[in-house]
Amino acid sequence: MSAILIKNGRLVDDKASWDADLLVEEGRISKVEAFIDESSCPTGTRVVDASGLVVMPGLIDAHTHYHLVSRGTVTCDSFEQGSRLAAFGGVTTVVDFADHNKGMGLVDSANYRLEEMRPGMAIDYTIHQGVYGHGYDNTIGKQLEDLKKMGIKTLKIFTTYRNTGYLIENRDDLLYLFKNAKKLGLMVCAHCEFNPMIEELSDNWTGDFSPASHAKLRPAEAEGKAIDLFGGIALEAECPLYVVHVSSKCGLDAVRRLRGKGLEVYVETTPHYLFLDRSKLEGPDASLYVMTPPLRDKTDNKALQEAVVDGEVQVIATDHCAFTREQKLSSSDCRTIYPGIPGTEEMFTLLNTFRVETNGDAGEEVLPFTKLVELMSTNPARLFGLYPNKGSFALGTDADIVLFDPSVKWTLDDSNVHSASLYTPYRGFDVQGRAVMTILRGKVIMEDGEYYGVPGEGRFLRQC
Ligand SMILES: [Zn+2]
Repeated sequence: MSAILIKNGRLVDDKASWDADLLVEEGRISKVEAFIDESSCPTGTRVVDASGLVVMPGLIDAHTHYHLVSRGTVTCDSFEQGSRLAAFGGVTTVVDFADHNKGMGLVDSANYRLEEMRPGMAIDYTIHQGVYGHGYDNTIGKQLEDLKKMGIKTLKIFTTYRNTGYLIENRDDLLYLFKNAKKLGLMVCAHCEFNPMIEELSDNWTGDFSPASHAKLRPAEAEGKAIDLFGGIALEAECPLYVVHVSSKCGLDAVRRLRGKGLEVYVETTPHYLFLDRSKLEGPDASLYVMTPPLRDKTDNKALQEAVVDGEVQVIATDHCAFTREQKLSSSDCRTIYPGIPGTEEMFTLLNTFRVETNGDAGEEVLPFTKLVELMSTNPARLFGLYPNKGSFALGTDADIVLFDPSVKWTLDDSNVHSASLYTPYRGFDVQGRAVMTILRGKVIMEDGEYYGVPGEGRFLRQC
């Protein structure tokens, strides 16, 4: 693998942005200096001119579901396709999810998922391990220890989906889980929708089951209530809580209450909760926009956007869970529409556009570029045990680097993104900025619209 010297770029990490050159050798960052002379580099070093470009640590999408087998079908972006579209978006690492398989313990479930991922992944990855009600028993403490030994320190739990056995219903069981997570230093990530409220609404529902009804059947209040509930348990266990895909002002308010009580709460939100609203759930394409939790109101978009600017959000990830147009449009009944949308590729460009709009012409940077790097690289690396090897420019760490053109203007369209879903939920969005080169451990995997990733070359990352 030849060395790469990136010259004349604007380096941006979570703390600062400065003009510097960066040298990559043997897959690692070997030098970051104001000026690196080409003649001082190993013979055969490739020199890349990054004038006018931002150079940042590889992005991390901390919430993906590539090749998810669900509801008798499979999501359309396989591990190969997921890796590919990620590279186009500047993403070099994903944190995907392992189900807690029926009849299998946590370690076996994790290994099952990792075996599935290994041959196809062309970018690096780790997983969040689901802990579900149907598999919960009194060996859970020991299982969590074993999971930690294999390098997985992040758990996913649900506050809903009682019917499918995902929900852990007993409060004492949950408390025990949180206490063990605290003891072992594991991160508990929770999907928050209060199940009793959702079941009650559904049982008494007299309306139709159109896509728009999905939002009424799973309201924002349910998110707030579930965060209150799980936060209360986490507080009792003195264990931090990571709330995945916060979608509403109600959810944010619940987080604020918990923080007021002293709980460490990490908020993840997604581009679709920031920039799409429930008006998308009308019309012939409505099914394309169904996911859980559902899209909310413009006031929720606004509240989440402000929370990003104010520093109340720690991670932006996508919940990428893509189905083809055909799969999505095969039903217009919100009970049977395959839930989920693509997003990894569009994530950073959307947030850069938001940064530009937020800052406007004002000299002062309300939302600095460093904040974007923090939200989509450094923070997920820190929270999921990958830092500083990922999410930083520290010397000797993995050379995962993105060259990003922050000023190019383009319009998102079904034809210029790479998901096998063949649509983008952000169709027609005028955006600014685009990844022009993506480097994974010193190897260029995407350059100027061409993909060079190799399935199987992505590595499983042990969380530490
Ligand atoms: Zn998800």
